[in-house]
Amino acid sequence: MVPPKERAADRKTAMRIPMNLCRPDTSKSCAACCGLYNVGDGTRLTLRDKLTYRTDRFRDVIRSPDALAGFESEVRARERTVPYDEVIHVCEFAGFVDAERRSVGCMLHPCAPGNEGRDWRGMCHYGGMACKSFHCPAWEELSDLHKRIVTDIVDDWHLYGLVITDVDFILSLFELVEEHLGLTLDDTFLRCDSARSDFLRILKWKDSGILPGDSSATLRLSRYYINASTSGKLARGGGPMDRILACLEFTYGHSERIPGAERLVSGGIGRFVSTYRQWIEGVEERGKDRRR
Ligand code: SF4
Ligand code: SF4
Repeated sequence: MVPPKERAADRKTAMRIPMNLCRPDTSKSCAACCGLYNVGDGTRLTLRDKLTYRTDRFRDVIRSPDALAGFESEVRARERTVPYDEVIHVCEFAGFVDAERRSVGCMLHPCAPGNEGRDWRGMCHYGGMACKSFHCPAWEELSDLHKRIVTDIVDDWHLYGLVITDVDFILSLFELVEEHLGLTLDDTFLRCDSARSDFLRILKWKDSGILPGDSSATLRLSRYYINASTSGKLARGGGPMDRILACLEFTYGHSERIPGAERLVSGGIGRFVSTYRQWIEGVEERGKDRRR
């Protein structure tokens, strides 16, 4: 966990420099557009094992077109992936790109370990230019505030990629929280540890499911590539509650309304709002005491 002082410093920095949404800091990153979640079993454990194998194996691969193509074929044969969306390539070159294995990303990138500044992304299925220039809708459609709050709270690659690419989920969540709160949400709550925990618990619905012990929740698709699902364009329409439920249903492959989901969403948001209100009241009380 980043100490609060450093978080405040990071936030100040983030306000000056445009945020790199793919890798906002050293505690996590995203590789959703490399097809990370476009697989039959997108659970954290399964993806972690695949990424670990690729990363370890890639260390011994000579950087030459033939050797890299050999690595790609080997991983493809090993994983035998059937993509959910056949338009989206599940790239064999996505792996861990830091020593601590907290950041996922492109092992062909010039800054990735072992490449010594050479860019090998031309070996990619999409061609190097696509990999270099692609920005998913979240880059443009999320406000700086939304980006700041999500990147400040989440420090796990698996959850981060699922949340940050789901524009509808984030926008609908803020809308619903603000409806409950009766105020525009700013980033003040990041100073309150229990409100942060409540908010993180909500974001984790995208990772561990909204229903306790939901064993069917293995799909974990990310929504970045479905244009119709980005902000304001959901076929389902409706209010923020409907859109949040649609996002969760999409993530988990449930075609019907998840039983009890509306109650669970309201309960989670209600808990965050009440924690945040209590904290604000406490801060105001302490301010009054000091002035007396
Ligand atoms: S899906 Fe978006 S945030 Fe994630 S790696 Fe791709 S461009 Fe970056
Ligand atoms: S080569 Fe392209 S698709 Fe593959 S991991 Fe790198 S950036 Fe992603």
